[in-house]
Amino acid sequence: MKETVTNKEAAAGTQSALQAAAVPSEASTAPQDAAPGAAAGTQSILQEAPVPSGAAKASAAAPKRSAREIVTGYQGPKVRIMEVCGTHTHEIFRLGIRRLLPPNVDLISGPGCPVCVTPVDYIDEAVMLALEHHATICTFGDLVRVPGSKMNLAGARSQGAKVKVVYTGLDAYLYAKDHPEEQVVFLSVGFETTVPAACLAVKKAAADKLKNFSLLTANKTMDNAYRALKGFADAFLYPGHVHAITGTRLCEEMVKEGVSGVVAGFTASELLTALAVILIKLQEGKPFFENCYPRVVTRDGSKTAQALIKKFMEPCDNEWRGLGIIPGSGLRLRPAYQEFDARLKFQLPKIQGHSNPACRCGDVLQGKCKPSDCKVFGKVCTPEHPVGACMVSHEGACSAYYQYGGNI
Ligand code: SF4
Repeated sequence: MKETVTNKEAAAGTQSALQAAAVPSEASTAPQDAAPGAAAGTQSILQEAPVPSGAAKASAAAPKRSAREIVTGYQGPKVRIMEVCGTHTHEIFRLGIRRLLPPNVDLISGPGCPVCVTPVDYIDEAVMLALEHHATICTFGDLVRVPGSKMNLAGARSQGAKVKVVYTGLDAYLYAKDHPEEQVVFLSVGFETTVPAACLAVKKAAADKLKNFSLLTANKTMDNAYRALKGFADAFLYPGHVHAITGTRLCEEMVKEGVSGVVAGFTASELLTALAVILIKLQEGKPFFENCYPRVVTRDGSKTAQALIKKFMEPCDNEWRGLGIIPGSGLRLRPAYQEFDARLKFQLPKIQGHSNPACRCGDVLQGKCKPSDCKVFGKVCTPEHPVGACMVSHEGACSAYYQYGGNI
C-alpha cells in the first residue's frame, strides 16, 4: 500500500519537475553581495544553450534550452554527482527529478545528514547521561531512534529516562530555566545551520548563570568533509542552507584544490538548474564553482551567525560515521564556556561504540554504495525498525530510497 502511495507522489513530483522546466526566475534576484558571476553566471550558462558533447559544435544561433532539456538530453560521459545534503536527496526523489535523469548521470549520497553522520559512541554517551546521571535529555526527534551499541534513547526512555524532543537549543535552555531541579543536556548535533541556535542558548544560559544546562556536542563543519571526500564524485551539489551561513568563499577555495561543485536550492527549478550547470561545466574539463541559489546564498554568508559560532565554539577533531575522524571538522565549546560542556560536567569516559555489522551506513554516506545495495534494506531495516541512522532520519539516504525509490 505504501508503495502505491509513494509512486503516485513520485509521479506527481515528476510532473511538477517537468512543469518547472523553464530557466528559473530566482537567478535574476541575486543579492548585491552574491558571489561574482553567481546569478549572472548561471543565467548566461542557460541562455548560451550549450550543445552536449558529441553533438554538433555550439554556435551563436543554437536555440535556448531549459535546464530540464539540458539534464534530460545529456549525452556526455558518465558523471557522478554527490548530493552532499540529505534534504537534496529527499527533494530530488520527491520532485521526481531522479526519473528524468539519463543513465549516464549518477547521483550518489553524501554525508550531509547530521543525524546520520553522528557516530554510535555519541548515542551511547547520551544514553549514559540519561540512565546513569539521570540528566534530562533534550534532543531533535530523529536522534531518539538512532541505534546505540545496546539501546537507543527511546529504549532509555522506556527504562525511566527523561528524553524530551525539542526544535532548537533555545527550547532546551528555556526548559532548563523552568526546571532548576533537573540537569538538562541538549544534544547539539548538526552543521553550521544548527550551531548558531546552540550558541545562542549557551549565551542566554551564561547570562542567567544557569547551573543546570549543558551541551553534548557533536557539531560538524563541512569544509574538511569536502576535502575528505575529494575524488569520490565528479562534482558536489553543495548544501544551500549550510552555505547560507558560511557563504561561498570556501567553495571558491575548493576549486583551487581541484574540487568542483555548485550550491543548489531546494525547488524543482533550482535543483534542475544546478544539475544542468554541473553537466555543462563538467564538459569544459576544469574545476568550477557556481552559486545556483543566489536568492539565499551570498559570498560572505551570515556574518552574525559566523560571529556567534566563533565566540562560543572552536574547531576540534571529530568522528563522522563512515568517514572516521576528520581533523578540524568538529566544533566544541571554547574554554571560557566549558561549564556548559556535558562531557566535562559529568566526566564522561571515552566510549567505543559498536554499530550493527550488517549496516552499510558508512558506505552510503560516502557514496560507495546505494542504500538498496545493503542486504537488509527494506527487509530487516525499515523506517519502523531502523538498523542504522540513515534509515531513521528524515534526511537519511536509506529513508529516501525506501520512501520514494526502491532500487532506482
Ligand atoms: Fe544501515 Fe539500514 Fe541503510 Fe542498511 S538500509 S545501510 S542497515 S540504515
